[in-house]
Amino acid sequence: DRNPVYKKLKILERITTPERVVIFRVPWKDDHGEVQTNIGYRVGFNSSLGPYKGGLRFHSSVNLSIMKCLAFEQIFKNALTGLPIGGGKGGSDFDPRGKTDLEIMSFCQSFMTELYRHIGPETDIPAGDIGVSTREIGYLFGQYKRITNTFNGVITGKGLSWGGSFLRPEATGYGLVYFVEEMLGTIKDGVADKIVAVSGFGNVAWGAVKKVNELGGKVVTLSGPDGFIYDPEGVTGEKIDYMLTMRINGHDLVQEYADKFKVAFYPNSRPWGVKCDIALPCATQGELLEEDALSLLKNNVKCVAEGANIPCSNEAVKLFIKSNILFAPGKAANAGGVACSALEMGQNAGRTHWSKMEIDSRLKSTMSNIHQLCSDIAAAYNAPGNYVVGANIAAFIKVADAMIDQGLV
Ligand code: GLU
Repeated sequence: DRNPVYKKLKILERITTPERVVIFRVPWKDDHGEVQTNIGYRVGFNSSLGPYKGGLRFHSSVNLSIMKCLAFEQIFKNALTGLPIGGGKGGSDFDPRGKTDLEIMSFCQSFMTELYRHIGPETDIPAGDIGVSTREIGYLFGQYKRITNTFNGVITGKGLSWGGSFLRPEATGYGLVYFVEEMLGTIKDGVADKIVAVSGFGNVAWGAVKKVNELGGKVVTLSGPDGFIYDPEGVTGEKIDYMLTMRINGHDLVQEYADKFKVAFYPNSRPWGVKCDIALPCATQGELLEEDALSLLKNNVKCVAEGANIPCSNEAVKLFIKSNILFAPGKAANAGGVACSALEMGQNAGRTHWSKMEIDSRLKSTMSNIHQLCSDIAAAYNAPGNYVVGANIAAFIKVADAMIDQGLV
């Protein structure tokens, strides 16, 4: 309403239409010599701020609708980082659970044999997401290099010795906790001595748990598709490393943690009934619903920050905002991962490698800038303290203005 030009130039209609969508067949052979067929996707949603950027998800739930939704979210997340990256997402309905190394390589090579023609370091730069980490990135990159005869920064999340960046695996979780620290800072508080409920046990949860420990907080839950574990002593030390082992095990069962460390396991339930000061949903979309928000609020949660993409339902978000607790939407709070990916692109383009300290300080200042931007814009649009309004409007304006500058394309 404040900018009638957006309406006049039909920005809403244009911004909600993907620039491109690629769907392709991915045939591969399993270890028994059987032919398998999966579907591959890559959505290039918006390139007004830079080449398409966003992860690849390998999970049985992947379909076009989810890909478009996540790519749309990625446009605005990437805009908030202030780095020159557009928004995209991709993946496959391939389920890595229980697959052997050889099967995963075979799938990744076939996937890239089609994808390579649609991506490039100046066009579209994929990365990891659920089911895609350094191992898969390695197989994908290897096949890209082989087909195109180029060694470049076409994909991020690479291994440290072959073009990857320090702290990329940690960046999403670290950035999330830096953002939480910023939010708590506004009420002269911090993560130290806080009880934290985390969901998931993958890459984002792992980074978040490490950083919460470093800052003196205590993480008491983790979760998986099978349920959640409650560890009143805190997820610390070798237990954090065990999160990586659980991932390598490939069973996707958090019960393995409960069995190993003799703590309580609650099958088929979510961790949001546990008493905590901070809740960090780090698993997947739609994992924190209205009833969970009510339990958290009843237990006096102070701060909820989305480590996953769109983990809280709209009803849950409404409740958090109405109750005036600190609530951070994922597009702001989990932007540290993709921000570090953009730093990896910068290092690759400059054929250089920055130190861990350099990356950490850039990550910290990026999260602090996002926090400031969201606060400022929320206040300017009559919703002080509302990070949802702040993030959405700040990101929208950035993308919409760039679209206008670049004309009808
Ligand atoms: N998959 C991550 C996200 O949702 C990272 C994307 C990237 O690094 O490109 O933001």
